[in-house]
Amino acid sequence: MYTSLLVAVDGSKQSEKALTLACYLAQSNQAKIHIVHAPEVLQHPAIMTWGLGAVSLESSREELAAMSSKLVEHAVSVAKEQGINQVEGHVIYGEPTLAIIKQADNLGVDVIVMGCRGLGNLSGLVMGSVSHKVSHSAQCGVITIR
Ligand code: ATP
Ligand code: MG
Ligand code: MG
Repeated sequence: MYTSLLVAVDGSKQSEKALTLACYLAQSNQAKIHIVHAPEVLQHPAIMTWGLGAVSLESSREELAAMSSKLVEHAVSVAKEQGINQVEGHVIYGEPTLAIIKQADNLGVDVIVMGCRGLGNLSGLVMGSVSHKVSHSAQCGVITIR
């Protein structure tokens, strides 16, 4: 049914679940999985310590890029451990919702798999802003998991 899936990861437990689900869905059809992450400055701990003068802007940018690559590489290795042969990781840039939707369009995936909530899981809402907006605006199917 699905030949190409996109999984959006942010390092949260729910995005780990999304990756597991995507691997399960991909296995039955030997589908390809694309794993994407959009670095978010406001969720980067080093950048949140600016006020303390702990890090410079430049080193933070580099650190953010390195952390993002590591997050994506880790997810790729998890998918491979799950027996997925066709898997590719992408660090994408821009506002996360727009970047995820654009990447899904460019790759022509059948479905986006993501968590209902992510790292910003502070309120009682079921859906985070990224999963909410992607569900509304994506051209392809969207599966969210809690
Ligand atoms: P909010 O960010 O609105 O405060 P939240 O962090 O709880 O709330 P979302 O950000 O919507 O919720 O996260 C839901 C899912 O969206 C995550 O589980 C993940 O699959 C995906 N996601 C969120 N942020 C990113 C990102 N920067 N890059 C890739 N995927 C993301
Ligand atoms: Mg956010
Ligand atoms: Mg979030």
